[in-house]
Amino acid sequence: MKKVSELFSGKAKTVYTTEDENRLILHFRNDTSAFDGEKIEQLDRKGMVNNKFNAFIMEKIQQAGVDTHHDKILSDQDSLVKKLDMLPIECVVRNISTGSLCRRLGVEDGVDLTPPTFEFFLKNDELHDPMINEFHINTFGWATESEVDDMKVLTFKVNDILKPLFSNAGLLLVDYKLEFGRYKGKLILGDEFTPDGCRLWDIETRAKMDKDRFRQGLGGVVEAYEEVAHRLGVQLA
Ligand code: C5P
Repeated sequence: MKKVSELFSGKAKTVYTTEDENRLILHFRNDTSAFDGEKIEQLDRKGMVNNKFNAFIMEKIQQAGVDTHHDKILSDQDSLVKKLDMLPIECVVRNISTGSLCRRLGVEDGVDLTPPTFEFFLKNDELHDPMINEFHINTFGWATESEVDDMKVLTFKVNDILKPLFSNAGLLLVDYKLEFGRYKGKLILGDEFTPDGCRLWDIETRAKMDKDRFRQGLGGVVEAYEEVAHRLGVQLA
């Protein structure tokens, strides 16, 4: 399958149409951005690592019974996906308190959350992705009530699939963001699952192994992503 034309360029991926109207190609770039695009850098190998990492995770999620848009890897930085009608919503599950949860609610960082908590955000950089609730989603028609239910069920199901996968690799899945879209009348997982959109801490040292290394200027960003991939058994070469 070949790229036909550029459909959309996001902060870290470019999306291309293909000869098949139901398929798109995701090109994972080396660009790394934070703070709604205010901090941007090129990090060598990141596009390749994220493409392969994403394919590995999407396949695990698919095998465990949650439908995703992922079809197959095409090259180091490209993957073929189903074309979804994306909802403008980000779903976040948190297993350990950190990040914006602590800033917004003043709760202590690094505390196990029992049960894990869930938040919806509106995908809107200009507004800095504000937190929204189910009433906003309903009132403004961003998703139907059954899609809201599906997003919650599916996002938690992904937690059940991925928490043990990461813990077997010596990593804590602290939190993550998922996005969903409509495909042939069904809501399925879209976007990506990479260390750009989740937090992973070493189980022993709690060292950060995700995009917080970039956000906080800790360095060794791609090296940490490669270490995570290596521990999971993702083939990078
Ligand atoms: O910043 P915050 O603590 O709300 O992030 C929660 C989780 O969602 C983190 O894993 C972060 O990487 C991810 N996230 C994301 N894209 C956003 C906002 C958050 O991937 N726009």
